[in-house]
Amino acid sequence: MAVVLHVPAADWRAHQRRVQASTPGLVPVAKGNGYGFGLARLAAEAQALGVDTLAVGTGAEVAHVRDAFAGRIVVLQPWRAGEPGAEDLLGDERIIHTVSRVEDLAHLSASDHRPTVLLELLTSMRRHGLAVSELQSVRKVLADSHVDVAGWTVHLPMPAATGSNADEAERLAKSGLAVRQAPVWFSHLTTDDYDRLRATLFIETRLRVGTELWLGGSVRRHTTATVLDVHPVKRGEKVGYWQRSLPADGHIVVVAGGTAHGVALEAPTAATTARQRVISVVNGSAEALGLARSPFTIAGKKRWFVEPPHMQSSMVFVPGSKGIPAIGDQVPVELRLTTATVDEVVLAD
Ligand SMILES: *Cc1c(COP(=O)(O)O)cnc(C)c1O
Repeated sequence: MAVVLHVPAADWRAHQRRVQASTPGLVPVAKGNGYGFGLARLAAEAQALGVDTLAVGTGAEVAHVRDAFAGRIVVLQPWRAGEPGAEDLLGDERIIHTVSRVEDLAHLSASDHRPTVLLELLTSMRRHGLAVSELQSVRKVLADSHVDVAGWTVHLPMPAATGSNADEAERLAKSGLAVRQAPVWFSHLTTDDYDRLRATLFIETRLRVGTELWLGGSVRRHTTATVLDVHPVKRGEKVGYWQRSLPADGHIVVVAGGTAHGVALEAPTAATTARQRVISVVNGSAEALGLARSPFTIAGKKRWFVEPPHMQSSMVFVPGSKGIPAIGDQVPVELRLTTATVDEVVLAD
């Protein structure tokens, strides 16, 4: 056991079901680090939900979900002619390819594989997509094409940044629908905006959801790290790669969890003003040395890193001798799950 994500399975799945019930046409998104759970785990959850389609981030991620999920797999990153592996993906009939440039659509149109595509429209995100001004060219390419159009896709900014994305979503969807009647897929719409669009577009809609589906709700997840070693130390003793001297008598606790797990060195909340620093020195506190707070909680407190986290473990300092954990104990560690890689996921009730 090392860094472990504990998930109350029944609560987690009940939350997923609630999101599914309020999102007709839900397409779960499993990409990157799998939102902390891993891609294969999310593929299995999506399979259990009974959805017909799962979205992954890149072509390389298809292999991670393919065995656990039986339906169709959308690759969110646009397909690009000439990219390594791009042609190989066309041989997989379960994949739906996102297309964001006229030249790529033309390339796919000539493919013997008759690929299924989603036509991405450029939004105020300005990330990928066909501009409305290019839609006449799209119409021409589609007129003589063997691609199977699964729909239009509209990837919007965060609703929190815009207030509402409904107007932009409707305008773009209608521009696409004027060229080809096909389902419209969205990302980042509020439930209200999505409901409104479904009522006005008169066409099948899909909504891709990652963070809210896997990490939302009030599911009481927590992460723990195994204590790997404990060493008593004296004030002024030097420790670690960087041989920093310690501000007080206490213990070095070596815990599982390092940069490979996404354990980051946060900016020191250390005393910034000279006066605060003097106070810290007088109190013998770690701030005086510019130590940074770690995400590990030991004896009820977030403890200080002795030095930046190592690849797979971290050294933290616990002053004094109270509440020192034993080797093998699990201590709480706070991880941001969109950037963390845990060693094990434990589903329990
Ligand atoms: C990542 C991604 C999503 C899911 O985003 P969340 O904020 O995790 O729900 C949806 N659509 C696209 C195109 C994405 O790249």
